[in-house]
Amino acid sequence: MTTAQAVGAVSSEAKEWYAVDWPTIERNVRRLQVRIAKGTKEGRWGKVRALQRLLTHSYSGKVLAVRRVTENKGKKTPGVDQEIWDTPEKKTQAVHELQGRGYQPQPLRRVYILKSDGNTMRPLGIPTMKDRAMQALHLLALDPVAETTADKNSYGFRQQRSCADAIEQAFKALKNATTEWILEGDIRSCFDKISHDWLLAHVLVDKTILRKWLKSGYMEENVLHETKEGTPQGGIISPAIANCALDGLERVLKGNYPKGIRLKSLGGKTPSVNFIRYADDFIVTSKSKELLEREIKPSIEQFLRERGLELSPKKTVITHVEQGFDFLGQNVRRYSDGKLLIKPSKKNIKNFLDGIRKAIKAARGWPAAELINELNPKIRGWANYHRHVVSKRTFNRVDYDIFSSLWRWARRRHPKKNQRWIKKKYFEQRGTRNWIFTGEMYDDQDKPFKIRLLSASDTPIRRHVKVKGDANPYDPAYEAYFEKREGDHMRNTFRGSRFLRFLWMEQGGLCPVCNTKITSLTGWRLHHCVPRVMGGSTSVENRVLLHPECHDRVHRLGLSVSKPRLLPRGV
Ligand SMILES: [Zn+2]
Ligand SMILES: [Zn+2]
Repeated sequence: MTTAQAVGAVSSEAKEWYAVDWPTIERNVRRLQVRIAKGTKEGRWGKVRALQRLLTHSYSGKVLAVRRVTENKGKKTPGVDQEIWDTPEKKTQAVHELQGRGYQPQPLRRVYILKSDGNTMRPLGIPTMKDRAMQALHLLALDPVAETTADKNSYGFRQQRSCADAIEQAFKALKNATTEWILEGDIRSCFDKISHDWLLAHVLVDKTILRKWLKSGYMEENVLHETKEGTPQGGIISPAIANCALDGLERVLKGNYPKGIRLKSLGGKTPSVNFIRYADDFIVTSKSKELLEREIKPSIEQFLRERGLELSPKKTVITHVEQGFDFLGQNVRRYSDGKLLIKPSKKNIKNFLDGIRKAIKAARGWPAAELINELNPKIRGWANYHRHVVSKRTFNRVDYDIFSSLWRWARRRHPKKNQRWIKKKYFEQRGTRNWIFTGEMYDDQDKPFKIRLLSASDTPIRRHVKVKGDANPYDPAYEAYFEKREGDHMRNTFRGSRFLRFLWMEQGGLCPVCNTKITSLTGWRLHHCVPRVMGGSTSVENRVLLHPECHDRVHRLGLSVSKPRLLPRGV
């Protein structure tokens, strides 16, 4: 695309979209969100509602909401109306049509996708782009409230919190020798039963709109369970609403058993009650089994009943820490030497390996390189998930298991060749390591290059630094704290690729087109400063990370981007 062509074709609607000043937009939204969080903290609900209304009616809020839903993973998946917003014209129109008045959500589009175990299908309900944008807009207003009123030890679908934080908190709670018993909570078919009246009365979202979403089934089925596997069921705001419904449980328990209190019934000992929740998975610890059974469980049931929910009697169990229990794919157990260890759970390892074997089996006719491309992200994702706990031995075992499957795959392909031949064709020796599964690919100039299978055991095991329980991303006091965490998070995200990591660091985490941060929420694209067709190289000197939105803009308008260190020429 040449500059002249692109510029000539720009409509007034596209011009409007391209004229959006993103740093100002982000600042406007952020300023309102900070005020909403402050009002929430002070309990000034009238003010909070007024500020929320201001935000959901603002141009800044709408523009940002449209960008969110056109930049994230689902942007190419339409809802029942088959619409996607893939041009600046459509995005501008969407901003203007994002009105609360007369808004009517469309039903969810049902699709079935393969579950992460690779065997069963699960239904997914996909809202239309417009409904997604509406949810994104209202989430901008709800999130500062939700983050401020959330339970300290709730970790699912929160900003900058993760499973690793929940697990680390479980470790903290249980390493104390007086904590012996665990109640594993399982909420029965969580959100198809939830009381709509309760939500309407307690969740700070525009009531008229929330009522419509609830009617359209956006909160039905297992919002949180499903979402853990990827795309949110029913949309972007549903997990936040579900969280709001479960928040407060920790406060109830902490209120009943404040820190430092000693109980007569426990012989004057502290009850050691800790609560940790990730989405709808939660555990409660205590020194005493009886306390969990007779007092804590009933108070949880009472809390849930008010919201139309209940515990699943089958799956809610009380376990001793020496027996161990699974939480979020990992096994937590105190061994006989008194050491508390957290390892990948058996079930989690099995699911992972089943998926890998299935992928290898399906790749019977593929070249090795293609199979490696299929397996590497799976291995990286799984090993990254477990890299904060005692996983070294599991990683080795898993690597060996994958190797065996690949060896069988190779033997089956070449039944007439001997082992030496197969080893030479598919397995490489590098440094101290033998048997690295290797394939060959060609770059866009037909030059061959090698691609190697990742091994889980190459992932360094490092203790996770847990997020501070009190930290609120909308409280200016925590600004620097979260900036640092986000930076660490991004460096980890790019861990698999030195290339991306280098670029991200070189750019100071900023997109050179709009000068705002590149985060996991915004996503990124790798751009060639000098286009490939003009002889630009693929090397790091010619590459730059941009927001997907900014990348689109650069190509459509034929803009040129220079490396950030060559600024101030910029774009
Ligand atoms: Zn940008
Ligand atoms: Zn590009």
